[in-house]
Amino acid sequence: MQLSKAAELCYEITNSYLQIHQESQIIASTQEAIRLTRKYLLNEIFVRWSPLNGEISFSYNGGKDCQVLLLLYLSCLWEYFFIKAQNSQFDFEFQSFPMQRLPTVFIDQEETFPTLENFVLETSERYCLSLYESQRQSETAVNMADAFREFIKIYPDTAAIVIGIRHTDPYGETLEPIQRTDSNWPDFMRLQPLLHWDLTNIWSFLLYSNEPICGLYGKGFTSVGGVNNSLPNPYLKKDSSDIPLRFEWEISHAFGSNAAGEHDSIVNTSPISVVDKERFSEYQDDYYPGWYLIDDAVERAGRIKN
Ligand code: ATP
Repeated sequence: MQLSKAAELCYEITNSYLQIHQESQIIASTQEAIRLTRKYLLNEIFVRWSPLNGEISFSYNGGKDCQVLLLLYLSCLWEYFFIKAQNSQFDFEFQSFPMQRLPTVFIDQEETFPTLENFVLETSERYCLSLYESQRQSETAVNMADAFREFIKIYPDTAAIVIGIRHTDPYGETLEPIQRTDSNWPDFMRLQPLLHWDLTNIWSFLLYSNEPICGLYGKGFTSVGGVNNSLPNPYLKKDSSDIPLRFEWEISHAFGSNAAGEHDSIVNTSPISVVDKERFSEYQDDYYPGWYLIDDAVERAGRIKN
């Protein structure tokens, strides 16, 4: 796919979600969340930094939050181009999308699940990302600030980086949508237009999008770090009590399903790598998929503190 096509697809997905008329509190609040993110991107970010000349990079690690933000970012990128093209003196059909790939940074921090690594590579192709991958150190986990310092050295035009952090993430509570990095970090603007999203918003939009999502979420993970500090979420363990699925409508009416809303009701998860299959063999089907969890307070309960 070309970047222009990927951006147009994301625009169509987003528009389609915004047009859903359902008596669902989750969908209504997600539509509100999308509108605010779009406002940040189109009215506050793209007017200060051009998304088309390398000033903005996107931080991406294949996680659900940055994937949601990537879909919205590409959607706004399409809209930004479309509006510019319409205002131009030349006919729209003679305008070509001015970017081939989206500048993206992935800090390969620690030993990563091959399923996630494969997913990052596959989606880099799908969304036309120009992926900078930091060098992983053999023994110790990479220091994030140092890794970004290295990135800025190689891409000195970078003025701002888009980050899919939310208020409910650790240290996320007091963050602002646009803010400068702390003094012990390399100097750039942090663009954080997803802060106000909660877990239900993330699952609702992502499942509706019908885009492939990282297979680890299908195995009970709700937040993914390195292999040594991430497990399926214990709150999703299948025991005596059933956990209800809150996103049945989104899954069965996912983007691209037919007009009657008929869809095979299968979530589009990426394949689990052979190594991870082995790793998970003990507890293969013992957990509900990640999207059964809607409580932000326990989203990271599967993360082991080092
Ligand atoms: P999940 O919580 O399910 O793992 P996520 O990885 O998108 O989803 P966080 O782990 O909360 O979310 O990280 C917040 C954001 O920080 C990401 O969305 C991404 O923009 C950025 N980020 C985190 N880790 C990395 C990394 N290793 N490389 C690049 N960006 C990262």
